[in-house]
Amino acid sequence: MTDTPTFNTIHYAVDAAIATITLDRPDQANAQSMELIGELDDAFTLAEEDDNVRVVVLAATGRHFSSGHDLKELVGPNADPHLQARRATAEGKFRHERQMYFDKCLRIYAFPKPTIAAVQGKCIAAGMMLAAMCDLIVAADDASFSNPVARMSGAGVELLVEPWELGIRKAKELLLTGDAIDAQEAWRLGMVNRVVPRERLLDETYEMAAKVALVPPVTAERIKDSVNHTFELMGKRNAWNFHFMAHHFTHNTATALDRLADREQMGSMREVFAARDEGDAPA
Ligand code: ZN
Repeated sequence: MTDTPTFNTIHYAVDAAIATITLDRPDQANAQSMELIGELDDAFTLAEEDDNVRVVVLAATGRHFSSGHDLKELVGPNADPHLQARRATAEGKFRHERQMYFDKCLRIYAFPKPTIAAVQGKCIAAGMMLAAMCDLIVAADDASFSNPVARMSGAGVELLVEPWELGIRKAKELLLTGDAIDAQEAWRLGMVNRVVPRERLLDETYEMAAKVALVPPVTAERIKDSVNHTFELMGKRNAWNFHFMAHHFTHNTATALDRLADREQMGSMREVFAARDEGDAPA
């Protein structure tokens, strides 16, 4: 292991040819705060600049991979006033999300070295988006994937990964119902490469990473880029650009703004979801 800079919300470590970036906010289910997203980006820069690194493993401490974006710093009593001011208008929200969510995720998707996500527990909304940016996914048997933002009137998250990951029918079911799929179902649909016992998650991920690290870096980059390019030819980037506009329209509808007001009043998304599911919330 080499000495690496200290981060607050992630770990970065290099062992031989493998860099491991670990989300490390376990008490917040690895909710992606602005600080975490920034540090994640910095860690990818370290991995990109280190010629010894051939593969990046993206892991997470604690029970859950990631509960998505950290909404607590966006809304509610503990929100960050600077962030709120930045996101006060539709234009500000668009710029903020393009820079911090859309572009930073695309950077991971197009990262020049192969990436492997090791996913345990809940992988929700932007958690699922982040995992889907990686080239390979190893899932623990307790992993589950969901994107329930339609319950707060959102159209998915910023990058619409579901059609590419799950196929048309399951993509619509996941997004419209907000229900989760478990690791076995994710494997059956081709979203994850393998499902392993929870206690074997990192070992199995490193076994896979060691095999990938044997590929000459320029060859590995050509392989992932050619596979990604195949999907570009099917319109993946254009579809993502289209969806980002659609997503932002639903950030600013009257319903969405009402839901945010509900969130302020009720204190948690869980309560907003419950009221909505019981028919107490406006459509
Ligand atoms: Zn958004």
